[in-house]
Amino acid sequence: MDQNSRSRIENWLTYANELGLAPFYRDRAIKAISNPPAAIAIEPAAENPEPMPKPAQSRPPIPTAATPTAAPNKAAAFFPTPTGPSLFESVDRIEGDTLEIIRTDLGECTRCKLHKTRNKIVFGDGNAKADLVFVGEGPGHDEDIQGLPFVGRAGKLLTQMIEAMGLQRKDVYICNVVKCRPPENRMPERDEIAACSPFLIRQIDAIHPKVIVCLGATAAQMLLNTNRSISAFRGEWLEYRGTRLLATYHPAYLLRNPAAKSEVWKDLQKVMAS
Ligand code: SF4
Repeated sequence: MDQNSRSRIENWLTYANELGLAPFYRDRAIKAISNPPAAIAIEPAAENPEPMPKPAQSRPPIPTAATPTAAPNKAAAFFPTPTGPSLFESVDRIEGDTLEIIRTDLGECTRCKLHKTRNKIVFGDGNAKADLVFVGEGPGHDEDIQGLPFVGRAGKLLTQMIEAMGLQRKDVYICNVVKCRPPENRMPERDEIAACSPFLIRQIDAIHPKVIVCLGATAAQMLLNTNRSISAFRGEWLEYRGTRLLATYHPAYLLRNPAAKSEVWKDLQKVMAS
């Protein structure tokens, strides 16, 4: 495929993401632009000229249902303008923050419309001091019922991947960009990501892992502040708030495209060697 065709598909994919079109279309586009030429380079958040936020001494205000106005603006800056302010730049590090405090702050959250259809909030699960954090997109049916991340078919595959790395689930931490299941497993919308991601950012800060592995485009695009297709930077070492980050395909994608498992395994081998 020539470069112009790749660019057209990438632009179309960005547009489809903004419209929240079905993952079916996204996956077809990802497949079409797999194995991109070396000339396609991501511009990760690490290259953003904006300085890293200074540590905060007090806890920043948490968005509430009564004060939702700031979130859409942050999200709008994220999606169509990858070089604009990122979501994590608006969340200061909180000294002494813990997963327990963050869960308490989250409460029985109604900050976005996903609360209307969820059964259980899926906060995250695993080792609070893990060196390795996996970040997915959002809960599915089984996760919504159990309140735990990655426990369905895709979760079983993730567990196999973790064990193939010589680890167990209790050794790592697993969480998602949004903590409530989107209806019909659609992609989270920008306002939902903006409302929920401050808690993910605090979770990662509190755990302070050595490596973050993003499972799928939604997590990678949110943490890296980019609209680029995951195929443009999958398997590359990048940086998020001073922590090494690598993006790979989501296990749900691997269930539909088993041939991509070998690529993911190469990515995980990089993590094991780090
Ligand atoms: Fe709250 Fe996140 Fe659930 Fe939205 S997805 S209701 S912000 S916990």
